[in-house]
Amino acid sequence: MAKVQTDRRDFMKYSTLGVFTAAIGGAVALSPYSLQAENRLRPPGAVDEKEFLGLCIKCGQCLQVCPYHSIKLADFTMGHGVGTPYIDATERGCYACSAVPCVLACPSGALDHHCEKPEDIHMGIAVLESPERCIAMSNTPVPEGYNIKMKRFTDAQRNVTELERELIERLEGYEGKQCTLCADVCPIPNPLSAIAMVPDANGGKRPEIYDACIGCGACEEVCPTSVPSIVVKSRVSYEDQYENAGV
Ligand code: SF4
Ligand code: SF4
Ligand code: SF4
Repeated sequence: MAKVQTDRRDFMKYSTLGVFTAAIGGAVALSPYSLQAENRLRPPGAVDEKEFLGLCIKCGQCLQVCPYHSIKLADFTMGHGVGTPYIDATERGCYACSAVPCVLACPSGALDHHCEKPEDIHMGIAVLESPERCIAMSNTPVPEGYNIKMKRFTDAQRNVTELERELIERLEGYEGKQCTLCADVCPIPNPLSAIAMVPDANGGKRPEIYDACIGCGACEEVCPTSVPSIVVKSRVSYEDQYENAGV
């Protein structure tokens, strides 16, 4: 009988320890500081990630003024930083509005008011992550149905702004043509300083990224491949990605 009680005590001790360890592990995994590893794409002007998490009061003002519906608030399924704004570029990139209204709307300093124009934005850097998918490189025309992809928001149950309608109209007519979508959509005032289609060794063309890229993610959004061939790496600079790589 004494043996049974000892086993039971051991079980209780170790199972409690297990739960405690799991809870601590979970807390660490959910800690705001672990977000640095995940590197979510933040709205224009976002200060350093750790500072951002401390300053952002989760008011949603940036989101409310964005005319492209680019900004979302993280929900509990994202694990940490719940309620903080981020941009999911596969769904909707930022279109670098001239007066950067999201920054102006931020009351807390989480979005730095020194970010006053598109050229001041430094969200990350675009990278042709999957060149083997890029249909411009394989001389494959933009597939039929692409416009449907771009129109997905007109059918959604939400207000579609005039600027969003203009964007959809701009992107119509690409079906069956060589893909230059990422370069054509780049919203900065001098897009050729950020991205250009250049001849590729295989006879196709490929997008090349330059140092004026602000990491807005518009190119990632419009890329017609099922998984975007071009993606934005959050909080990575041009120098880090293209000049210091392998140093
Ligand atoms: S710059 Fe414009 S499009 Fe980009 S997140 Fe801010 S308000 Fe939205
Ligand atoms: S290349 Fe892509 S990420 Fe860079 S500024 Fe242009 S659209 Fe934005
Ligand atoms: S949008 Fe750019 S990266 Fe994507 S398939 Fe077209 S050319 Fe390639």
